[in-house]
Amino acid sequence: MVCKTVLASVAIGTIALATAFTPNLNAAGEELRLIKTSDVDNGTWYTEQEKLDLFISTPSCAHFMDITETQVRQMLVDAREAYFDKRQSATFPSAAAHQAEANPLIDQISKTNPKTWATTLTNIHNRYYKGSYAASSATTVYNLVKNVAAANTKITIKQFTHSYNQPSVIATIPGTSSNVIIVSGHFDSINQANPTTGRAPGADDNASAVVTILESLRVLAAAKYAPKNTLEFHFYSGEEGGLLGARAIMQDYVNRSVKVLAVMNQDMTAYSPNHNIAVYTDYVSTPLSNFIIKLVPVYTALPVITDRCGYACSDHGAAYDAGYPAAYVCDENMVDATPYLHTANDALSTMDFDHLHQHVRLTVGFLVEGSYF
Ligand SMILES: [Zn+2]
Repeated sequence: MVCKTVLASVAIGTIALATAFTPNLNAAGEELRLIKTSDVDNGTWYTEQEKLDLFISTPSCAHFMDITETQVRQMLVDAREAYFDKRQSATFPSAAAHQAEANPLIDQISKTNPKTWATTLTNIHNRYYKGSYAASSATTVYNLVKNVAAANTKITIKQFTHSYNQPSVIATIPGTSSNVIIVSGHFDSINQANPTTGRAPGADDNASAVVTILESLRVLAAAKYAPKNTLEFHFYSGEEGGLLGARAIMQDYVNRSVKVLAVMNQDMTAYSPNHNIAVYTDYVSTPLSNFIIKLVPVYTALPVITDRCGYACSDHGAAYDAGYPAAYVCDENMVDATPYLHTANDALSTMDFDHLHQHVRLTVGFLVEGSYF
């Protein structure tokens, strides 16, 4: 989660394409970053320090993407509407249809594993993408993914490296089709008052979704689940720095013409005073979100609500920007979201693992249903 303030605006699609990365410097030799604050913003150059002061640690809570290495190609502005149509016109089933296959898998979900892994992640001082623990926290996530997937040797796990020192992690269960279904969440954390060195356990934001996805992967790996579509589990770095990890990966997928059928991003799955599951409705694929709204009562015991969180509020914004059907699932509405966001108090003790369990159920259900898209 980038922040809690809602800054919604009208959506128009953009396309991210690769450019070789050469740092752009100002007259003083400082590296500049291109920051985009709305769907129709082409970006403005700021120094790293300005990015930190104006966007990352600002109390007013800016919504932004750092597009320095994933710049929108303005030449293709005419294609934006076509991409917009593509992600909005994608069709999904009218209802859940694979409960008989999903439910035995859901019965295998552990209620203890997520707490064990969340303890490991929140014990790291912080997981800030430019902090001292950037690389080691990424290695911790990589090793967790490797361990939970070990039961099925067909699963591949790779680190996706970035210009900063915190690789993202991607696990893949190959299907008979190369079309891809993605579940995603970011593993980096931030103390907004002191990003680089402050304590940031990042429990709800976003160890919660990391362990939600890990447990979903473990269940499918242990069952040697063989999907039709290829299933991918994305653990992004650098989200708090402007969706950096997700943007780089989505740009790579666009460049390689990977056919992504659906992305279900989760950011915060373990703090829900209203005991509901929230499906967000802005900067997402409406057909995909509507399908997930139908899955919640089928695969969980919780009611579904909807809300809006504004531009670039989490990594689904990167998939959406790349033209892929993306959805965002969270544990609460904006108003009742964790009050400990981006502080040292976003701690393990605030996590509701019964609530998180419902997100794991939804994730496994979504993956089995998505296997047949
Ligand atoms: Zn956050």
